[in-house]
Amino acid sequence: MSRAFLPYGRQTIDDEDIQAVIEVLQSDWLTGGPVVERFEKTVADYLGVPHTVAFSSGTAALHAAMHVAGVKEGDAVVVPPLTFVATANSVVYCGGTPLLADIASDTLCLSPEAARVAIGSSKMPVKAIAPVSYAGFPVDLAGFKELAEGVGALLIEDASHALGAARNGRHVGQEADMTIFSFHPVKHITTAEGGMVVTASEELAVHLRRFRSHGIVKDRGDFTRHYEGPWDNDMIEMGYNYRLTDLASALGGSQMKKLGGFLDRRREIARLYRKLLGGLKEIKLPPDHPGHAYHLFPIWVDTTIRKYVFEFMRSSGIGVQVHYIPVHFHSYYKDHFSYNEGDFPCAERFSSGEISLPIFPSMSEADVDRVVDTLLEAVRV
Ligand SMILES: *Cc1c(COP(=O)(O)O)cnc(C)c1O
Repeated sequence: MSRAFLPYGRQTIDDEDIQAVIEVLQSDWLTGGPVVERFEKTVADYLGVPHTVAFSSGTAALHAAMHVAGVKEGDAVVVPPLTFVATANSVVYCGGTPLLADIASDTLCLSPEAARVAIGSSKMPVKAIAPVSYAGFPVDLAGFKELAEGVGALLIEDASHALGAARNGRHVGQEADMTIFSFHPVKHITTAEGGMVVTASEELAVHLRRFRSHGIVKDRGDFTRHYEGPWDNDMIEMGYNYRLTDLASALGGSQMKKLGGFLDRRREIARLYRKLLGGLKEIKLPPDHPGHAYHLFPIWVDTTIRKYVFEFMRSSGIGVQVHYIPVHFHSYYKDHFSYNEGDFPCAERFSSGEISLPIFPSMSEADVDRVVDTLLEAVRV
């Protein structure tokens, strides 16, 4: 019996989304137009934050955040090992060093205690602390805020998994100095490629916009040299072309209307998984939280059976994934930094038994049952 392949995540696109993109295709502006700002405003209103700056990817948004935080050669940024490499890479793009610190086993996110120890023993100045709200679990920021203030660092939350997550009665995005979201198709809403930095600081927002567009300023008052006339512009620092298009922004704006429903459905699927898999000794379920956004549903099985379970599920057409290979296990990080296997036991232990089960809004209950039945068959042989 062959059944459709069930991916671990996928986008949900309806006719309204398609129509929104078509309208931009027929308009004067494919990029650099008014739809980008409209999308930024929609996200700002939803999150309850003053400034949102859209980028061509979540990775570009992270790079920009590290840049405007002042990260440069000789600086360190605290990053958990259990994340997508982009979190650490964004530090390296700026010439900085990712200062890895272990996760806490009860949140699967950066441990404030491990961060404190890492900062205490760092020979480099720490410019930022960058916790990741792994899987959509909104990691508590209080401890990191105190640490950051103590060393004059900024708090940058990688919330690529956590659009719509909430803690302390507030949306993720309101508390850190800068918060990063991704709009890759597996994330909560999509613009195909895309990302955003969210901040309460006007100064950071202005700098983020400049970095997004080559480091060029156009307003006379922003020039650092003589202003020649209305044709003039001045590139006052290195920047990139990291702009999001109007096409992508139209899709994002339309997707935002469905975010509430997407979140409800993700939470419902997580509840089903918990109900069907709870109490089994072979499977450890991820930590729960009332404001969890459930980008992922990461379970843990004994390291000795992970490979078998993973391959069994894949061969049954279920697109399980592993999130993530610890950052310091990647060849690039082995070659360029002095971390060793064993340095971050919590992240390494979790990663070695982790399996991400499919979770996305258009999954049916039958899909959930199929995942659970296949998983139970795999762990019980
Ligand atoms: C998705 C993701 C990003 C950004 O990825 P892009 O594909 O560049 O949008 C960054 N960090 C984490 C943890 C992610 O999951």
